[in-house]
Amino acid sequence: MRAVKFYGPGKVGLEDIPVPVPRSAEALVKIKYGGICGSDLHIFRQGMFVAKLGETMGHEFSGAVVSAPPSSGLSPGDLVVGDPRVPCGTCAACIAGDTHRCSSLGFIGEVSPGAFAGYLAIAPEKLVTLKGGTDPAQAALAEPLAVAVHACRRIITAAGSGNVLVLGAGPIGLLMAYLFKNVYAVKRVGVFEIDPFRLGKAKEAGADERSADIESLSGQYSCLVDAVGVETVLNKAIGAAAPGGCVFISAIYERTPQTDINTLVSKEMTLVGNNAYSFDDLKEAAALIGSGKYDFRWLVTSIMSAEEAARGFELLTGKEKRDLKILLRFEGE
Ligand SMILES: [Zn+2]
Ligand SMILES: [Zn+2]
Repeated sequence: MRAVKFYGPGKVGLEDIPVPVPRSAEALVKIKYGGICGSDLHIFRQGMFVAKLGETMGHEFSGAVVSAPPSSGLSPGDLVVGDPRVPCGTCAACIAGDTHRCSSLGFIGEVSPGAFAGYLAIAPEKLVTLKGGTDPAQAALAEPLAVAVHACRRIITAAGSGNVLVLGAGPIGLLMAYLFKNVYAVKRVGVFEIDPFRLGKAKEAGADERSADIESLSGQYSCLVDAVGVETVLNKAIGAAAPGGCVFISAIYERTPQTDINTLVSKEMTLVGNNAYSFDDLKEAAALIGSGKYDFRWLVTSIMSAEEAARGFELLTGKEKRDLKILLRFEGE
């Protein structure tokens, strides 16, 4: 089978490797689509997260069950998505059941073979089945959607559903804006983004107001989300927030930011981190896609063959950003 491998910063290539042999307690999944994630871009640019060079990449996928233990309840042909998280299982957070807060949380495609390949062997309890007839390309968005579901649920619990400003219209920021508007009934959703193409996408996501100039937005937001992960954006969020407001971070910083703490203190604001998602968030994301009530196709800007993986990474990390979510197609192997 073909597998997309990471050889070092800027180096991604395709290899022919044997189909994995599932252990007796594992399921074998034939991959349909794999999505290139922001964290894959951290790997591509910096080599972050990856345990060893030559690993098969990818943690966002949809696929069809080939085989599974009879006790799993899965049948061959079932359309599935999977929980790609690899928690340690022994830290305080894992023992408490909060595996998304694991002190050494890894993902398949980083610490074990990933899903950018013809097949994946995985524990069946990590799989979520989607309704027959669900578009497998949209199903591959379940994992990034779970990140957005997790963040949105926490934000609404903490800050209510009055108004939210999302800073950064990458896939996670846009999915959050979409969910706030279409699923969680937030009254006013704003998006700040400097790239005109991405700002246009915020309109498709349903944002009430969109701007490349944070000062031009109407009124002050009491709840803001940094979905970028760079210092200037975090400080813009802290500067623009209403007194007493909250800034949530749904991003990973490649460089540790210098934060405008004095403004945070003088406005008595709350700064909150969001990390990944729980299995329940993934099930909710799969249910939203499987319900057929929502259309997430606007997020997918390209579907490429596995052979074009390197080009996909270059497009997503280049200066001219004309892509948001690129899916790699593994069907037809
Ligand atoms: Zn992801
Ligand atoms: Zn742990």
